[in-house]
Amino acid sequence: MPEQARTILKNVFGYDQFRPLQAQIIDHILNRQDVLVVMPTGGGKSLCYQIPALVFGGLTVVISPLISLMKDQVEQLRQLGVPAVMLNSSLSMDEYRRNRDLVAGNTAKLLYLAPEALLKSNMLELLSTVKVDCLAIDEAHCISQWGHDFRPEYRQLIKARANFPHAACAALTATATPRVRQDIQNSLEMNGGKEFVASFNRENLFIQVAPKDNPLDQTLQFIDNFENQSGIIYCHSRKQVESLSDRLTRNGFSVKPYHAGLSDAERSRNQEAFIRDDVQIIVATIAFGMGIDKPNVRFVQHYDLPKNIESYYQEIGRAGRDGLQAHCLLLFSYADVQKIKYFIDQKDPAEKRIANIHLTALLRFAESEVCRRMPLLHYFGEKYDTEKCHACDICEGGRPEKIDLTIAAQKFLSCVKRTGERFGSNHIIDVLRGSKAKRVFQHRHEKLSTYGIGEDFSKKQWQQMARQFLHKGLAEQDMEFGSIKLTWKGWDVLKGNLEVWGQLDPEQKVEKVVVASQRNADLNFNVELFGMLREKRKALADASGVPPYVIFSDKTLVEMATYFPQSRETLLDIHGVGAVKCDKYAASFIPIIETFCRERSFAERPKKPYRASPVNLRTVKNAQSGKPRHIHVGDIFNSGRSIEEIMDIFNIKQTTVIEHLNKYVIQGHKLRCGEIFTISRLPEDQKKVVLKAFDKCGCEYLKPAFDALNGAVSYDELKILRLYYLANKGGSGDY
Ligand code: ADP
Ligand code: ZN
Repeated sequence: MPEQARTILKNVFGYDQFRPLQAQIIDHILNRQDVLVVMPTGGGKSLCYQIPALVFGGLTVVISPLISLMKDQVEQLRQLGVPAVMLNSSLSMDEYRRNRDLVAGNTAKLLYLAPEALLKSNMLELLSTVKVDCLAIDEAHCISQWGHDFRPEYRQLIKARANFPHAACAALTATATPRVRQDIQNSLEMNGGKEFVASFNRENLFIQVAPKDNPLDQTLQFIDNFENQSGIIYCHSRKQVESLSDRLTRNGFSVKPYHAGLSDAERSRNQEAFIRDDVQIIVATIAFGMGIDKPNVRFVQHYDLPKNIESYYQEIGRAGRDGLQAHCLLLFSYADVQKIKYFIDQKDPAEKRIANIHLTALLRFAESEVCRRMPLLHYFGEKYDTEKCHACDICEGGRPEKIDLTIAAQKFLSCVKRTGERFGSNHIIDVLRGSKAKRVFQHRHEKLSTYGIGEDFSKKQWQQMARQFLHKGLAEQDMEFGSIKLTWKGWDVLKGNLEVWGQLDPEQKVEKVVVASQRNADLNFNVELFGMLREKRKALADASGVPPYVIFSDKTLVEMATYFPQSRETLLDIHGVGAVKCDKYAASFIPIIETFCRERSFAERPKKPYRASPVNLRTVKNAQSGKPRHIHVGDIFNSGRSIEEIMDIFNIKQTTVIEHLNKYVIQGHKLRCGEIFTISRLPEDQKKVVLKAFDKCGCEYLKPAFDALNGAVSYDELKILRLYYLANKGGSGDY
C-alpha cells in the first residue's frame, strides 16, 4: 500500500483508518489486478475505487445504474475537492460539454456513466483519447440473471472490457450469493480476479423482532424514540403505505408515502424531501431505497413481513450507513406468514419450492432463540459464533425461560371448540377473560363453561400464547375468515397426551424497544450543540442545493459536539473532515462551537488516542462513540488500561470484558497479554494443563476442552484462559 493512499484517506476523506479489506482491495487495484468486491450496503465499497482513482495518473470510469446515485456520488466527491464528473441525459448541453472537456483535458479523475453510455461510439472515441486506469462497475450484480436486479444494459459491459485492456476492473456488489458472484466473474472475464468478501455483519444495527400485536401503537411508540431523526417504515402494500402515513401524519409526525402507485413527480419529490431532511419519515413499499445513499437513517421498521432474508437485509442495510447506531424493528405475526403461504400456494411447483425455502429461512431468523445475527449471517454463508452480539433483542433482553403452558393451551383450545371453531383469537380471548363485550353476549358465549376461566392472564399474555399455539400447530387459522380450528395435535393437548411449553413475557416487548434504542444516548455528545450545528448544515445545504449529508455526515457533527474543536488543526482531527472541507466550512462551524463553549466555559477536548494523555475515564468512554463496543474495549485495553478499569469505564462485568476482548482477537486484532493470565484463579500448573488442552482440542468451542478436563474447570475460567491463549498465539507460544 503506497503511503499516498493512506494520506488521501485522511486528507481528502478525513478518515483515520481503513475498514476491513479496503486496504487490500486498493492495493490490488493499484497493481492493476481485477477484483470483485462483495460488501454489505454501507460497508464502504466506493472508497475502494475512489482512492485508487486519485493515485492513478489517468481516468477511472465508474459504471452506475441510476442517475440519482451518480449525482449523489459526484456531488459528495466534489465537496471533498475531487474532480469527478458524470455524462448523462440529465445534463444540459453546456454542462455536458464542460464535463466532456474536463475528461478530454485529463482534469477529471472519475467519470460516472450509465452502462449503456459506455459503448456509444462518441464515448469510446472520447475515452480513446485518455488513459483509462480503472473500470469500476458498481451494483455489479445487475449483470447477472441470477441476481435480484438484473439489468440487460449491464450485459453490454461484457464487450466493453476489451476496449480498456490496461485498466483494472473492479466489480462491486452487496449481493453475496456464490452463483451471482461466479456469474459476475465469468461475464466480465475477470480471469483469476480476486474476490474480496467482507463480513455481512453490520455491528451498529440493533436488530429486533417484536410480535405484531397492535402495529399502529407499536409504530407510534417506536418512532417516538427518534425525534428529528430520519427513518423508513416498510409496508407490504400501497394501501397500507397510504393508511399508515395518514395515521402518522395525523399523530403529528413528519411523514411522506412512497410507492409505485404515485406519480413519478410525487415520488421523487417525497424522496428528495427525505434526503434533504425536510421530511423525517418515509413510509414505503419495497419500491423505495434503491438509489438512496442517505447515511443518517436512524431506524428502519418493517410493518409487515419482508419478502425474504435478502430483501430484509438490504432494507435494514439502509440504516446507519454513517456507522452510528441505528435500530431495526420487524413486527412479526403469524397472520402475515399465513398470507405469504397463501400466495406461495398459488405458484407453480418449482417457484413454490424456492419460495418455501426463502420463507423457512426468514422464519428461522424471526423465531430465533439465539442471537439474531446467527441465522442472519448464516444465510449469507458466514459463521457467527460470538456468544453475545450486544445489539439484538435476544442478546440484550434475553428471552424468558420456557414454561409449561399446557393448562392454558387446554383452556384456549377447549374454548375454540365450544365456540364452534368459528371465531378468531381475539374473541376466544374475550370469552376466556369473561369480557362483557357485546359480541360475547350476542352469541351467548357468557353461558359457556369456558367463560371467564382465563382471567389469570392479561389480554396481551393470551395473545402471545395464542400466537404460539398457532405456530406450534395446535390450531389453524382460516386465511379468509380468520376463524381458528383445532388440529390433531391440538386434540392431543386437550386429551392430555401432549404437553405445551412456551414463553410468557411478564412485560410487553415493545417497551423494550425504548430501552434498547436509548443506547443512542450512550453516545453522550452535547445534544444542544449538535442541534445548532445541524441547523447550520441544513442552511448551507439548502443554499447550495445539496442534501445536508453531502456537507457533513451526522457522525462528523456528533464528533464536533463531543470534542468542541475550535481551530483548523483540531477540526481536521474530526471524522470526515479533510483539507478541502476544512477550508470550506471551518468559518461556518467553528464560531458556533466557540460561542457555545465560551458561554458555558467548556474547553476543547483533545481527540487523541487514549494512551496519549491522562484523560479522565468518562471521556475515554464518550470519545469512542462511533466504534463497536468490542473495538473500544480492545483498543483501551491495549493502551494499558486494566480489565478492572475497563469494567468501571463501561460499567460492565468482568465476563463481558472478556467476551469483548475475545471478539476483538478473533477478528484479527493483536491483543497484549497483560494481566489476563493472572486474573484466572486457577493454580499455575492447572492453567498450563488448560492451555495444553486448547493445543489438543482447539479453542473455537470450549466444550471439547471442558470435556477433556473432565469438567474440572469452569467455563468462566476457560474463557479467561482462551483469551490468554489467543492473545499469546502470535507470540512465542511458550507458556
Ligand atoms: P456502500 O457503497 O458499500 O454501500 P459507501 O461506499 O457509500 O458504502 O460507504 C458508506 C459510508 O461509509 C460512507 O459515508 C463512506 O464515506 C463511509 N466510509 C467508507 N470507508 C470508510 C472508512 N474507512 N472510515 C470511515 N468511514 C468510511
Ligand atoms: Zn445478538
